[in-house]
Amino acid sequence: MSDPYDYIIVGGGLTRCALAGRLSSKNSSLRILIIEAGPNVARHNGSHEYTGVETAIGEIYNASKEVIISAGAYRTPQLLMLSGIGPAEGLSRHDIPVLVESHDVGRNLHDHFCFPQWWKLHHPEQGLATGTPLWTSPAYAMGMPLDWNVTLQTPTEDLRRALRVDEGDAESPKDHPYLNPAFAHAEVIVIYAPISEGYAEFEAAMDGTHISTLVLLMAPTSRGQIKLADADPASAPVIDPN
Ligand SMILES: Cc1cc2nc3c(=O)[nH]c(=O)nc-3n(C[C@H](O)[C@H](O)[C@H](O)COP(=O)(O)OP(=O)(O)OC[C@H]3O[C@@H](n4cnc5c(N)ncnc54)[C@H](O)[C@@H]3O)c2cc1C
Repeated sequence: MSDPYDYIIVGGGLTRCALAGRLSSKNSSLRILIIEAGPNVARHNGSHEYTGVETAIGEIYNASKEVIISAGAYRTPQLLMLSGIGPAEGLSRHDIPVLVESHDVGRNLHDHFCFPQWWKLHHPEQGLATGTPLWTSPAYAMGMPLDWNVTLQTPTEDLRRALRVDEGDAESPKDHPYLNPAFAHAEVIVIYAPISEGYAEFEAAMDGTHISTLVLLMAPTSRGQIKLADADPASAPVIDPN
């Protein structure tokens, strides 16, 4: 067991940088432990009042002020459930003792899908995409070669129908923010290069022959759920985007 830190932040993502920065800007002598990179933390450690974390290899770290779980949209509820915080029925299915029963843990997942497409150019000799031999200036390597339309709206009647199914009646912006005419429901991004295979199991050569587009739904009305697959912190949770 180690000496207590003031705060422990679990998760090495974007949020923990902001959190750590904000905490230490008020008091630079605070001791903040950030545990990151994958499912290292197995569970909170403690009783109703949590004082620390236990890692997957059994190390225990303590925090005198707070443990902040910032492990992303999927792993944060998983970690809470592994620690005994969550819906009793889901926890007992995996023999996890219930410390705090909370039906909401793992609920209300907003999944905004992204639909990537690759387009093969009929006339690559016109030099419209990154990688073309026509672009020799180093300036072409700066910035992002894209056009971004961020405020597309879905047809209002279709949206009302979806809201009715998922959330109940909503007629005007007073009833639901998505009905505000300024709300961005969808984005379309045209990228003058093939996007990487990180988005799908497909890779096009960066040789000026392809461009790509992304269609993103920014205002999903459905709400999904994260559940435990088992009691092993290394396992991925069950993700139901609904
Ligand atoms: C392809 C893609 C494109 C995106 N584009 C944009 C964009 O253009 N603009 C925008 O605003 N957002 C974008 N996002 C969303 C943005 O990346 C997320 O909203 C943001 O990363 C969330 O930050 P986070 O810190 O909450 O979680 P994450 O960044 O997911 O970080 C969670 C961290 O926790 C760690 N972790 C998980 N479990 C444990 C554990 N048990 N123990 C220890 N560590 C653990 C993980 O390794 C990870 O480092 C995009 C996301 C994707 C996937």
